[in-house]
Parts: sequence; C-alpha cells; structure tokens
Amino acid sequence: MRSRLVVGNWKMHGSIESVTSLLAELQAATSEFPKGSEVGVCPTFVHLPMVREQLASSAIRIGAQNANAQEQGAFTGEVSAQMLAEFGVHYVLVGHSERRQLFAESDATVAEKFLAVQASGMTPILCLGETLEQRERGETDTVVLAQLDAVIRVSGIAAFAKAVVAYEPIWAIGTGRTASPEQAQAVHKSLRQHVAAQDEEIAAGLRLLYGGSVKAANAAELFAQPDIDGGLVGGASLQANEFIAICRTAD
Ligand code: PEP
Repeated sequence: MRSRLVVGNWKMHGSIESVTSLLAELQAATSEFPKGSEVGVCPTFVHLPMVREQLASSAIRIGAQNANAQEQGAFTGEVSAQMLAEFGVHYVLVGHSERRQLFAESDATVAEKFLAVQASGMTPILCLGETLEQRERGETDTVVLAQLDAVIRVSGIAAFAKAVVAYEPIWAIGTGRTASPEQAQAVHKSLRQHVAAQDEEIAAGLRLLYGGSVKAANAAELFAQPDIDGGLVGGASLQANEFIAICRTAD
C-alpha cells in the first residue's frame, strides 16, 4: 500500500512573517492529517533555516525546489544537493516545468540532478508534464514517458524505489485549469505501466503525485483515482486553510 503524500511548492514566495504564520497554522493542524499520510513543504533556499527550526519537532517534511548536481565549486548562486542533505532536507523537486522552461533545464540536466539528489540520500520528486500544444497534438504520453526515460537511462529503474514522480501538465500549473481526474488518472496509469514493464514491484510502490491547480475543492476527486497518490501543490500551499484542507483529503 502506497502512503499518500502532499507537498507544497512555495516557489519564490514568502517573507519571514508569512512563513512563520503559515507554518504555525500547519503545525497546529498536523494532528488532523490522515494517519500514514505524509506532508512536506518546499520553501525558498533563504527560508530553509527558519523552516528547519520551526519544524524541528514536527512530522512535516522539508523539501527544496532545486539542487545543483555538482558537489561544490565556482557556480555562483547555486546550492548543491550535498548542502541540502546536510541541512536535513528530505525531498528535492527535480525538473519542475518552471525550471525546464524558464531556466532551460534539459532532460540531461534533470537526470544529473536526480542522480545527485539520490546520491546525497534525499528523495527526488521528478516533475514531468506536457504543454497544451503537445496535449492537443495527442503527444502527452510520448512526452512524459520520454522525460521519465531520460532519468531511467541515467539512474536505472531501481532508483525509483526511492523516488517520487509528479505529473504536472504545464497548462494546469498556476492557471486555475486543473486536469480532470480522468485525464490525470490516464497519464498516471501510463506512467505506472511504463515502470511496471521494467519492474512490477517498483511500479506498485511508486508514489505518483498530480500537480496543477490542486485546491481544496478538487483534491478529493483527484486523490480518489487509483494511480494518484497525492499532490504537488503550488498556489494553494501558500494559503493555510486551503493547504490544510487538501492534506486532510489525503487518506
Ligand atoms: C506547482 O508549482 O508545482 C504547481 C502545481 O502549481 P499550482 O498548484 O499553483 O498550479
């Protein structure tokens, strides 16, 4: 049985004040989250120290939004996977579509990052997704499976025993337009079948999150799909009430 997972991606949002109060509200609600489910938050790098301090005795996991694959060196502005691991980070988003589109991360870069995150002992959350044009041309499965294969080629299928995959259609991210539960389930099923063709046990245990305008009003229907094991939540994760309501549905 796969445990449910809900992860908040705060993107480039937050102030000392807003992060403090958001975490206080989340912590106060932790006892309401379904038993056996997991919740994580991915703040900006600059907010990580205070998040770590505030969540020191909490079950809420800390995630990062990005990591550099190199251990250290002359890479101005970057943070390595090793540094994050030393800091107690549990999850790292890898290949988010904003990184792929706005920061030109290729499949090869994403694969290197995935490898580095796992080598540092953290769990990568590999983000995959198609554009609206690709969906309309009927290329959704081809695109997301190619993104997945780029990582499998470098890390091997066994790596997915300790990884999470998030299907995030680009046309649904931050747009208020959510994939229908049936659309999301169809892609999740293809992803699981693709992994199962190489290793059935790993496929059965692999957590597949849906991301793209998840909110309290649509989370339960999405999470009820057989191959959707939780959500990666952007905008709604910045609103305590919304995020708490989403986490409550993850049972
Ligand atoms: C995301 O950034 O991963 C995301 C899913 O954003 P939103 O929920 O705002 O669409």
